[in-house]
Amino acid sequence: MKRVTILGSTGSIGRSTLDVLRLHADAFEVFALGARRSEQRLLEQCLEFAPRYAVLEDAQAAQRLSRALREHGARTEVLVGAQALAQVAAAPETDIVMAAIVGAAGLESALAAARSGKRVLLANKESLVVAGELFMQAMRDGGGELLPIDSEHSAILQSLPESRQSWAHDVRDITLTASGGPFRTTDAALLASVTPQQACAHPNWSMGRKISVDSATMMNKALEVIEAHHLFGMPPQRIHVLIHPQSIVHSMVTYVDGSTVAQLGAPDMRTPIAYGLAWPRRMASGSSWLDLARIGRLDFEQPDAARFPGLSLAYAALELAGGACAVLNAANEVAVQAFLDGALGFTDIHRVNARVLEALGAAPARELGALLELDASARRAAALQVHALAR
Ligand code: NAD
Ligand code: MG
Repeated sequence: MKRVTILGSTGSIGRSTLDVLRLHADAFEVFALGARRSEQRLLEQCLEFAPRYAVLEDAQAAQRLSRALREHGARTEVLVGAQALAQVAAAPETDIVMAAIVGAAGLESALAAARSGKRVLLANKESLVVAGELFMQAMRDGGGELLPIDSEHSAILQSLPESRQSWAHDVRDITLTASGGPFRTTDAALLASVTPQQACAHPNWSMGRKISVDSATMMNKALEVIEAHHLFGMPPQRIHVLIHPQSIVHSMVTYVDGSTVAQLGAPDMRTPIAYGLAWPRRMASGSSWLDLARIGRLDFEQPDAARFPGLSLAYAALELAGGACAVLNAANEVAVQAFLDGALGFTDIHRVNARVLEALGAAPARELGALLELDASARRAAALQVHALAR
């Protein structure tokens, strides 16, 4: 029996993870579940999976959960706060940690899992964007296994040769595919007035609201370029992005001999989740199998840099190094939240990101403390920009 901790269990990835685990109750048990404040959903999960611990970041929600669990006669113990999330992630009783909190809020617990040698299933791409070098070092120090859950990065891992040594020599470049989001064909002039509801209506994937907006601006792909750089040690100029509206080819690796190896599948996150859980073997995920005859055609096109300027910020931030990626991530988190709250226009998300990166991107930061300080400064700078641009 492998014991699994899911951080962000009430979110889209967290729930898909439990869907996969439900199919394999003979091989996995849930050790801990964690979320921010959605106690009702967490209660249902606790009653079904009977974890040893349930963690909520919000103290009042944790109290309500604790009471409800007692009323149901459940034995799950409730813990509170960010530190408790890190504790269950590092606990010796857990073998596998699914890091599926959204945003930089997931960094501390993901790092704790990395340092303590767990198998880390990393959905929380923001951890790698904020502190990629530190995170990869923590994985090496801990001696655990890192399996990316982002579908593109899972696809790259599945398309790379087994031996890490040959990644540098045999691989020419990698290509991340991108659906282009809900506004791939929307007229540039109309983008300024699109609503959060339109932005969150992704054509192929059902996801949390933050990543849905990131997909609509293509900042999601920007974050994924940075993620790929750290995961695969690939220089930015060898990481390409290609629009593929059907989201069937999840990404590809091109070798020096002219071969391109890709991973294909239905757009269903349960596939990369099952891959991460079962690696190096395979197991059923609940996803449907690909029917290419029914799909009929696969299309590809270059991303439109004029309509989706966010993508270029990834390369700019990687060039700046230091804390630039942390700055970009923090600005984007603030801008996306402001857009979701109706306080910022869609195209102003990019304005905020570009301005904050320009202002703070050159700040040097390597250590965790410095990166977190920079994250906080970038959030303050972004809030000022949001205020200045507010409608
Ligand atoms: P979501 O909004 O659906 O869920 C987020 C989860 O994180 C929830 O359980 C929430 O309670 C928890 N959370 C948020 N802030 C927290 C905090 N401060 N402390 C503790 N818990 C907190 O998001 P999602 O779509 O599941 O995405 C999760 C992560 O996975 C993101 O980093 C996203 O980029 C990545 N990802 C998601 C998908 C997808 O299909 N949804 C695909 C690839 C990568
Ligand atoms: Mg992705």
